[in-house]
Amino acid sequence: MTTTARAPIEVYEDGEARIVKVGPMGPYGNNAYIVRDTSAHAGLLIDMPLEEAPLLAAITAEGGVQTIVASHWHLDHWATYDAVRAATGAPVLVGDAEINIPEERIDGRLRDGAEVRVGGVRIEVLHTPGHTPGSISLRVGQAVITGDTLFNGGPGRTFDFGDLETILASIDARLLPLPPGTVVLPGHGVNTSIAEARTGRDAYRRHPRPPGFFGDVEWRR
Ligand SMILES: [Zn+2]
Repeated sequence: MTTTARAPIEVYEDGEARIVKVGPMGPYGNNAYIVRDTSAHAGLLIDMPLEEAPLLAAITAEGGVQTIVASHWHLDHWATYDAVRAATGAPVLVGDAEINIPEERIDGRLRDGAEVRVGGVRIEVLHTPGHTPGSISLRVGQAVITGDTLFNGGPGRTFDFGDLETILASIDARLLPLPPGTVVLPGHGVNTSIAEARTGRDAYRRHPRPPGFFGDVEWRR
């Protein structure tokens, strides 16, 4: 991992895959990610949060953004849709179960297990519902971009009865089985790892919220 100082940006290199984390940005501290194939002029943007200037600067600096993926429908992940579309002309893809997005903003839907190519870099789509019905995570080499499904310290917020069970099932089935060294790159906040998330999840199993709880959960409380 290397860190550059001129913007809120972190860069991860994994073989030919380069992942640029842009954030925190905006009032909710959102992170966007640009996945690049370093041997080809090809890139993919994940999420379109405020702030427009640093996000567009990062897109321009990286170049080659051909595809945009939104992790889920929440508006803090779509705030710069117009500007990003204008700058890139790239199609916007979302999970095939996602709701609440105007159809005219969707250029394609991604099934669980689908593979998105960025040059020679393969990105695997993982359907991880719970925070929203169509939330997706994106696995790139030894990293996974988790949107608002898994953060450092706990699962993403849930909004209705049963959703906490759903998001925990997603985390258990799709994220925690990844190799323990996998870097977790979340939609808000600092990174974690699958190993840390496993430890946190184990602690939570010993002190769970009561059935039917939803809202903000931390692994340790
Ligand atoms: Zn969200």
